[in-house]
Amino acid sequence: MTYDFSNIFAKILSGAIPCHKVHEDDATLAFMDVMPQAPGHTLVIPKVPSRNLLDADPAVLARLFPVVQKIAVAAKDAFGADGVRIIQFNEAAAGQTVFHLHIHVIPIVEGAGLKPHTGKMEDGAVLAAHAEKIRRALRT
Ligand code: AMP
Repeated sequence: MTYDFSNIFAKILSGAIPCHKVHEDDATLAFMDVMPQAPGHTLVIPKVPSRNLLDADPAVLARLFPVVQKIAVAAKDAFGADGVRIIQFNEAAAGQTVFHLHIHVIPIVEGAGLKPHTGKMEDGAVLAAHAEKIRRALRT
């Protein structure tokens, strides 16, 4: 299995297509999932190419997971969530559809339920507002 440089997250990283950015540093990018399973559903990706966790350099993971934690805390705060679900799929058989390593961060409000993984595309204005809420929580 090799890395496909034309995958959609590679295009987001190169700036070829836009995203609702929540956080960026030299090693990682976090942005809103366009088909959120719950409000605040964010994806955290490394800038270095890897298909998924299976072929990732451990040094890349060491930079990625502190950011996942930061986003999880901020998203929980921003959406008044009771918990946060962290999900990550490896290869199509396991449910992966975009082949650049990404970690799902999903704020969970008790009793609110989750939309399906391949759900409906959210309105851009809603995603922009949700990204701003998380950015604000990251600043506090
Ligand atoms: P998976 O590979 O199964 O972990 O899921 C890929 C995720 O990427 C899905 O939750 C999609 O909604 C999300 N997604 C696909 N295209 C984009 C995009 N252009 N911007 C943000 N999220 C996306």
